[in-house]
Amino acid sequence: MAQPSSKVNGVDNTFRRKWDRDEYLERARKREEEEDGNFKAKAKVPAVQRKPLKHRDYEVDLVSRLGKTQVVTPVAPLSQQAGYYCSVCECVVKDSANYLDHINGKKHQRALGMSMRVERASLEQVQQRFESLKKRKVVSSFTEQDLDDRILKQQQEEEERKRQRRERKKEKKKEKALEEDLDDCDQDVAAMMGFGGFGSSKK
Ligand SMILES: [Zn+2]
Repeated sequence: MAQPSSKVNGVDNTFRRKWDRDEYLERARKREEEEDGNFKAKAKVPAVQRKPLKHRDYEVDLVSRLGKTQVVTPVAPLSQQAGYYCSVCECVVKDSANYLDHINGKKHQRALGMSMRVERASLEQVQQRFESLKKRKVVSSFTEQDLDDRILKQQQEEEERKRQRRERKKEKKKEKALEEDLDDCDQDVAAMMGFGGFGSSKK
C-alpha cells in the first residue's frame, strides 16, 4: 500500500470548515418537527380507523388438501402453489403452523381492518358468554358420540389405506419377480444361442 502521507502531499489538510451552528440547529429543529408530524399522522390514522380484535367466526380449514397430490409449477397462480394460501394478503404460507401464525398475526389482522387491541368486555358480555358455554355443554353429550363416530371412521379409513398400500407392495413384488424370471429366461436363451443377451436391463 502507498503511504497516505505522500498522497496528501501538497493538500492543505489543516483546513477545517466553519459550520454555521445556528443555521444547522434551525434546520435540525425543522426536520425533527416534520418527522414528528409525519409519525403522529401515521400512528394516529389507523388507530382510529381500525376495529378492535374479533374472534374468528369460521372454521380454519387446514386438512382439506391433506394427502392430495397436486402438480405445482412456479408459474401457477399463488392460490395453486404448494402450501396455504391467504386470499386476504395474497400470500402463500408453507405449513399449517405458520398459516395459523399468519392469520392470527398483525399483518393479516391489519389487512382485515383490525388492530391487535381487544375490546374490554362488559359484565353482561361475560355473563352471556357463560350462558352460551353452558348451553353448549348440554348439547355436547351427542357431539361426543359424534366424535367417537368420527374417530372410528378415521381408523377404518386408515386401515383401508394400509391394506391398499400392502396390496400395492405385493403387486410390485410380483411384477419384479416376473421381470427377473423373464430376464433369466432371456439369458438362458441367449446362452443357448451363444450371444450376450437381448439387451435386457439385467446387470
Ligand atoms: Zn393473510
